[in-house]
Parts: sequence; structure tokens; C-alpha cells
Amino acid sequence: MTTQSKRSSTIVRVALPLPLRRTFDYRVDDTMPLPTVGMRVLVPVRQRSLVGVVTAISVEPSVNLAKLRTVIQVIDKMPTIPATLLKILLWAAEYYHHPVGEVLHAAMPSVLRRSRDLMPELPRVFRLTAAGQEALATVPMRARVQRQLLARCHLEHGLEESALREGIAHVHAPLRRLLAQGWITAESAYPLARAARASAIDLDKDQQRAVDAMVAESVRFTPFLLHGVTGSGKTEVYLRAAAAVIARHRQVLVLVPEIALTPQFIARIENTVGGRLVVLHSQMSAGERHRAWWAASAGLADVVLGTRLAVLAPFKALGLVIVDEEHDLSYKQQDGFRYHARDVAVKRAQVAQVPVVLGSATPSLESIANVHRGRYQLLSLPERAGGAQMPRVRLLDLSTMPAAEGLSPPVVKALARRLDRGEQSILYVNRRGFAPVVGCSACGWQGRCGRCDAALTLHRRSGVLRCHHCGGVEPALDHCPQCHGGDVYHVGEGTQRIEEAVQRLFPEARVMRFDSDRIKGGEHMAADLQRVRDGGVDILVGTQLLSKGHDFPAVTLVCVLSADRGLYATDFRSSERLFQQLTQVSGRAGRAQRPGEVLIQTLYPTLPTYEYLTRHDFDGFASAALEERKLASCPPYRRFVLLRAESPHLEMPLGFLRQVRQIGERRLRERRHAGVMLLDAVPSPMERRAGRYRAQLLVSGRGRAALHAFLSVWVSDIEGLRRARTVRWSVDVDPQEMY
Ligand code: ADP
Ligand code: ZN
Ligand code: ZN
Repeated sequence: MTTQSKRSSTIVRVALPLPLRRTFDYRVDDTMPLPTVGMRVLVPVRQRSLVGVVTAISVEPSVNLAKLRTVIQVIDKMPTIPATLLKILLWAAEYYHHPVGEVLHAAMPSVLRRSRDLMPELPRVFRLTAAGQEALATVPMRARVQRQLLARCHLEHGLEESALREGIAHVHAPLRRLLAQGWITAESAYPLARAARASAIDLDKDQQRAVDAMVAESVRFTPFLLHGVTGSGKTEVYLRAAAAVIARHRQVLVLVPEIALTPQFIARIENTVGGRLVVLHSQMSAGERHRAWWAASAGLADVVLGTRLAVLAPFKALGLVIVDEEHDLSYKQQDGFRYHARDVAVKRAQVAQVPVVLGSATPSLESIANVHRGRYQLLSLPERAGGAQMPRVRLLDLSTMPAAEGLSPPVVKALARRLDRGEQSILYVNRRGFAPVVGCSACGWQGRCGRCDAALTLHRRSGVLRCHHCGGVEPALDHCPQCHGGDVYHVGEGTQRIEEAVQRLFPEARVMRFDSDRIKGGEHMAADLQRVRDGGVDILVGTQLLSKGHDFPAVTLVCVLSADRGLYATDFRSSERLFQQLTQVSGRAGRAQRPGEVLIQTLYPTLPTYEYLTRHDFDGFASAALEERKLASCPPYRRFVLLRAESPHLEMPLGFLRQVRQIGERRLRERRHAGVMLLDAVPSPMERRAGRYRAQLLVSGRGRAALHAFLSVWVSDIEGLRRARTVRWSVDVDPQEMY
């Protein structure tokens, strides 16, 4: 009787995928196995059932016991979310003031958000046996499929089922026959282990010092900032450190900013590090993602390589965290659960008590400030690896020279010289499409998006005017849609226009455009990048997609055609972003034997940012920028939180934020939250986007504790407002974009 009553009153606290910043209590029936923390349960919610995750057990119920509903099913036999990961996710929900159930949901692969088995089905791997080797010669010609399969197994050391089957129609019976004959073996093996090849590269002194430092601190939380100029061999440093950690049977998490960079990294990891590698990014199939996630959790993967979301993967024995290009904006999730993968990575390393390396040629000012405060240890690689020189950077004053179709005479001359020498060039244009401004000179009509406060960009090849903010499309007409005259002008240069202009100037050149219009999805991109590396392209015309971390040894010229555009942004980070972008794209030039040259077209050649750039003076730039931030009370000297609201109705977001601000002010008066300040609610810089009106309210704080204590109270006030259900609102902690 006593045990019965105890069991029947066991209560579990469950995080559910609902937009509410709270958990829900349920009773566990005594006919059920008792779940543990981190397991998934199916529970009733109103008229439906939802998969949730248990975050605590046997707690004091938050409501009357009799009112509690009962868990329908305990899905797991072991926790889907292991304790160490749960700790991180609960921390993240609190830090980002985001609904905890949605945070847990975001971390799980979609398969596990339903009541499916935690363990995925693992692919079989086939290998040729010695008998199979002999059989290759004796299998009769007419057993065509058998011969084909044997040959495939012969080529590789172990072949996954999908690769083995590819392009063969009736594979089942022949495969069974080969297995029965003992000519091939099949086993569930995932991921495949690879042997590292001995590296041909000798680390230089600075690289070796960096690796030694990282490897020495193997069982303590030690954050490193690896600041190395472009082409200084940072990747080589990560790989050596990773190899050392794997040799100790610990796992390594490697974050990269861009899916396109994964193939390059996979190849280098397979060569230098070996071991069992899995990849995690948003463009994988649900099944693949499930498998990779599970392999990380079970400790079957030595290296987990991925984009932002990989930081939410489970690990059995994490030993090292690496964040490449740590300054990159793509680490910040810009909607929903707005976490910053770099910052979560640092927290993960702290919880796991392991080192974390943030690497970049242009570290974020936040990270630089953390070095100054003694929180991060700085490791520097001031010179390019293998004796390569930094490129020579020259500014071209556009106010003193004509630039037909965006190309000034020195740029044209430099391109011609590269073509003569058989070297590659990059033209960096930060706008896609043909022309960013379209209008009528007769009546003054301008191509504007009907749903956004933004101009439409002409995409001539596809014959449309496109809005780059909402994706809206209108047909591009030869005549003006307003006065029906024919005086339609197209101003400014996008990638398409430059591509055409270059091709006209150099008809024999092989020109490739590289922007998100051309590259939809990862595969296309991998093939394109390979073509560049194989020398199949002379001139690359691209957006910032090109600038991130690619290693193109034959590129000796980089031209930035419209550098100034970044200056008009209203964001306090705009000069930092401009410096980062230009340094990164310049860094693609002259990475190997031949020296590189960078030409930057600008109307403001005397701007300090450009001067630092020509001198490769990151430290000078950073000190000046930090000084400005300090004067302006901006991060990293203050913490920012942006509250956003939007609605199809003009007055509502601003009205809502004004009320929210009043509530906040009252809370601040009630209790002193030292250093917390609320600015006025204002319309967003782009007030209308995709047909919705937007407003924002900036909160800033000096100390983290006071700011977050205030936010906890305030956000829960907001959640309770009836009006909060009439607008779409969100909290963005440490916002990276101020609109
Ligand atoms: P980063 O990541 O800093 O941009 P990489 O690691 O990609 O630099 O190195 C740039 C190039 O230099 C690569 O081709 C790499 O193979 C080569 N490299 C790296 N370290 C060395 C070294 N110690 N000696 C010679 N070449 C090196
Ligand atoms: Zn639009
Ligand atoms: Zn007109």
C-alpha cells in the first residue's frame, strides 16, 4: 500500500514545445516505468498530446495534485537529452529568456521530436573478404550485378549501403548471395573510422606554441582566442590539437560558420586527424541528422563538425571545442530561439571543464575585450604560413577616376594582367542581382516593394524586380508601370551586372558568379568551389559568400568594387563589420607562393578604417573601435537586449512596446536593478517588412546579474499581458543586428 501510494503520486516536470516560459507538471502512473531527467514523455495538453522532456522529478506540484493530468507514455529507456546537455539547454533558456520547451525542441533532431526510437537504424557497411577477392576473377560474366558489387567493395575500404546500391536496380538477391558465399561481410558501423595520413606540414614556431597551449589545458575550462592573420595556418592548429584530444579518447566539437566550408574541413580532418567524423547542419535529411546526433551522444563520433546548431549536440566525453571564424554573424540565430553559438560553445566548454578555441583573423570586439579583461588567453599567429606574404592593399579613389559599370581603369588593368599570367581574380560585390535601384526619369516612379520599406532590385536574367527583404517578386517591364514611358533607368551594380561587364571586357575569360541566387543548396556550391580550385575559372564575381575561410591558392588579385556601402548602415557594429568583411575577402589573395594584391574602390580613401586595412593593422583598428564603443556606452562595455514587436497593424507594435516600457520603468522603481536602462520604444529602422510593421525597444545593462534579474521579472510581466497575444514579440539577448 505504502509503495503504491508513493509511486502513484510521483510527479514529473516536463518542458513542452509551447511558446511559454514555464514547465508543466504531470503525474506518472504506477503502471509505467519511472522516467528519469532528460527522457521524453508523451503527455496530454488540452485535447491533444505532445512530446516533452522531463526536466525534474518528484517535485512539489505547482498546482493541486488532484488537478494534475497523467503522463500517457514514457518514450525513452535512457535520456534523449543527457544531463550535461540538459544543463546547457536550461542555462540557454534562462540566459536568452526563451521558452524552455522550444529550446529543447530546437536542440533535438526532428525525428526525436516525435515519439520515435532514440536509436537510429545504422547503415550497414560492406567489405570484401579474401575469398571475395579471389571470386572477383571467377564470377561468370552474366552475373553482372554480383560482379559490379564485388568491384565496388574492392575499391573502397568498406562501403556504406547507399554507396554500394547507387545506380543498381535489383540489388537485393545478388547482395544476399555474395553475403552467403562469404565474399563480402556486412556490419553496422557508423560512423566509419579513417586512418590519418602523416601530415606533410611542419608547424612553425607560433603554431606549435598554440597547439601546445591548447593541449596542455586538457581538463580545465580554458578559453583561447586564436588570432591569426588570413592564411596563417589556424586550421592546421585546430587539426593538430583535435588529433591530440582524440588520441586521449575525448570528442571534439568543431563549429564553422557556413555549410559550404564543411567539405573543405571534412577533407582536411580526414587527412590530418582521422577517426570517426560526423557532420551536423540544417540541410541534412532528418535521418542523417538523427544518426549524427546519436553517434555524438553515444560517443561513437570522435569529431562533430557542423554549423551553428551543432553546438546543441549531445556528447559523451567532450574534450575540446573549436569555433572557426568566431566573429561571423551566422553564429547568431536571428529568429525563434536567438542563441549565439559561439557564446553557447564557451558555456559548454565551461560546463565540461575543457578548453575552447575561438579562432579568427578579425576577432569580434567582444572577444578582444575578453582578452583585455584576462578572461581569454590570446594566442597569436602574426604571419602567413609557409612563407606566404600578406597581400598589398591599395585604395582607389573613385571621386578622381571614372568607373564604367563599376570597374575603374586600374581594376581593369589588374584583371588583364592576371588573365595574361593565368592567375585567378576575385571581384567582390556586396549586392546580388543586376541593379539595386530602378526608376523612371519621366515621372519619378521608383521600384519599391509593396510590402517592405525597401527598394526593389532588378534581376535582369530572370526578368524580375525582387525584394531582398521579403523575397517578393514583380515582373520587370521595359516601360514604366506608372506613366508607361520608356525611360526606365537601372542604377548601381549587382553581381549580375558586373559579371556581364567583365565578360564583355574579356570575352575569352572564364567568369563565374558566386552568390546566393546562383547557389541554392550546398551541392552546387561544393562543385563550384572545386572548379575554382582546379583552375577552371579565371574571374570570380561574388558576394561575401566568397570571403569566408576559403583557401584558393591561385587567387592573386581581389578587387572590392563598392566598399563604402557598409558605411551607411545604422548599426553600431557597421565599421567592425566592414573591417571584418574587407579583411576576410582581402585574405583570399596571395595565400600560396605568388604574392597577392588587393584593390579597394572607395569615395572616402582617407577614412581611418581603410587606413588600418591597408596597413593590416587589426590591433590599431580594434583599439580605436573599442574606444568609440566605450564613449558611446555600447557592447562590450554594456550589455544590450532588444525587445521587438511586429504586427500587420501600424499602431500596434509601438503601442505595445510603450506599455511594456511603462511596466519596465515601474519594476525598475520598485527594486533597484543597478545600471539597467530602458530606451524609448521606436519604429524599427525598416519599419515595414513583409507587410508587417515593426518596432523595437532597447534595454541596456552594466552588469549581467542585475540585467537578467530585471529581465526575468519583466519578461514574465509581458507574457502575462493580454495585449502580448495580439502582436508578435521577441526578446533578443546580445543582439547582433539592431533592426
Ligand atoms: P587559416 O585557417 O589561418 O586561413 P590555413 O590553415 O588554411 O590558414 O593555412 C593556409 C595555407 O597554408 C594552407 O594551404 C595550409 O596547408 C598551409 N599551411 C598551414 N600551416 C603551414 C606550415 N606550417 N607550413 C607550410 N604551410 C602551411
Ligand atoms: Zn519586400
Ligand atoms: Zn514613368
